[in-house]
Amino acid sequence: MHDILPEQAAAWHHLEEAARKVVTAYGYRNIRLPILEKTELFSRSIGEVTDIVEKEMYTFDDRNGESLTLRPEGTAGCVRAGIEHGFLHNQLTRIWYMGPMFRHERPQKGRYRQFYQLGVEAYGMAGPDIDAEIILLSARLWRLLGLRDVRLEINSLGSPEARAQYRETLTAYLRRHVDALDEDSRRRLESNPLRVLDSKDPGTRAILADAPSLTDALDKDSRTHFETLCGILEANGLPYTINPRLVRGLDYYSRTVFEWITDELGAQGTICAGGRYDGLIPQLGGRPTPGCGFAMGLERLLALLETQALLPPTAAVDVYCVSLGDAARMSAMKLAENLRDALPHISVLAHCGDGNLKSQLKRADKVGAGIAVILGEDELRDGTVVIKPLRDGSEQRTVAQSELVTSMKALCAKENEVQ
Ligand code: ATP
Ligand code: MG
Repeated sequence: MHDILPEQAAAWHHLEEAARKVVTAYGYRNIRLPILEKTELFSRSIGEVTDIVEKEMYTFDDRNGESLTLRPEGTAGCVRAGIEHGFLHNQLTRIWYMGPMFRHERPQKGRYRQFYQLGVEAYGMAGPDIDAEIILLSARLWRLLGLRDVRLEINSLGSPEARAQYRETLTAYLRRHVDALDEDSRRRLESNPLRVLDSKDPGTRAILADAPSLTDALDKDSRTHFETLCGILEANGLPYTINPRLVRGLDYYSRTVFEWITDELGAQGTICAGGRYDGLIPQLGGRPTPGCGFAMGLERLLALLETQALLPPTAAVDVYCVSLGDAARMSAMKLAENLRDALPHISVLAHCGDGNLKSQLKRADKVGAGIAVILGEDELRDGTVVIKPLRDGSEQRTVAQSELVTSMKALCAKENEVQ
């Protein structure tokens, strides 16, 4: 688990703001849910035989002896809340969330034990149009951020029945090659054979190259659904690749699944993943309602933004108020408040504590201030204040304290023009 320090905050804000803009542009509404849920919520929804439930959850008994888990993902909580508050059945709901998730994985670049996800979920819509919408939404975020070279892979897992039948075909094939499979895959062969398709083991992947294809096993309705989705993506000029081995790590998907992948982050190249999960809501005790959604990993997105030099510069202070002596400090605090009243969009840092002129100006430089406002004993006596530009080399000048706000407004307007 890692700390996010103030130096990194500008990058996070940049990403979060872009994300908020995009989800709002599609009419999605924010939901904020607890970080802890009952353990059974995750074992029932994500599936017992998945990496997450088998070995990645932070689970403990609370003081009442109830088993609780730090959420490893957001979909289960959204569905739990939807059943509880009745926003699923007979409704059309579009929601989004952002927040920390927890998985006990081996930490490495792009893989952490606490990481942040932005997710969207859409309920009550069974057609391929909403699948396409959430994919278009994610693509719009990449455009807004300026990201290059992320590719879209899509697949269909078919109906639960078609999937069950394919499961048989696949199991029969894999049993014939059981000796060449890695240990995890051998175990999954009996409990959850589709997950074998997801294996990263080279030996298993070689066997999979000739395995029967999920695409050939699709039922007619799922095929039409998938073709329509592809058609919408094409009509919107969104390139994609069909990857028949894409199954996703969670059990609850049906029909559409997709991932956005980059080659610039090494092994942890999936920045966003999602799909349709029509069976999940009844599985958790709700009335049958279709659902689909995705989640993106914010650390991976930030790493990619950094690699592609797309991060904004660190946020700097605009004005640093320097004051010398107790009486001047009193007035400077008041002047700083006046500036914040009059110019709410700029940041004004008033010096607190000790420090002579030189050391205060040094601090002003360190926090990146563009202008220092200086109040010493002379200025206090004369009712004036010094405005000292720190970056552009222009001359400092003395103005009446009553003129400070007007002068600063003019200066800020000029700066905006230059930009
Ligand atoms: P992976 O194959 O990388 O383990 P996953 O299938 O477990 O991913 P999802 O559960 O679909 O991932 O989560 C959606 C996204 O969240 C991922 O595509 C990734 O960007 C991000 N993510 C998942 N696990 C982590 C982690 N441990 N640290 C950082 N980001 C993560
Ligand atoms: Mg994982």
